[in-house]
Amino acid sequence: MKTIIKFDFPILTGSISTAKSQCGKQNCVCKAKKPKLHGTYYRWTGMIAGRRTTKTISEEVAYECKKRMARYRNLKKQIDLLVEQALRNAPWK
Ligand SMILES: [Zn+2]
Repeated sequence: MKTIIKFDFPILTGSISTAKSQCGKQNCVCKAKKPKLHGTYYRWTGMIAGRRTTKTISEEVAYECKKRMARYRNLKKQIDLLVEQALRNAPWK
């Protein structure tokens, strides 16, 4: 893919989810009467080259991802406003 815009404004699409889980060990704390589950695990899910993709990430990376996603949403909002404005000022009037 050709890079159209290249500047220091890291954005990201997709979403972050968290999960706690049980392991395979027989006598683990995650299988106790009051289970203490493993985790929290963080995952990023989104589209990469048209394929739905999931990546397991650290808490720190999840935090950075959320920051970039917020930036993306903000940029998208501004583009939507620009498009609205462009249509109001369309050349066919
Ligand atoms: Zn366990």
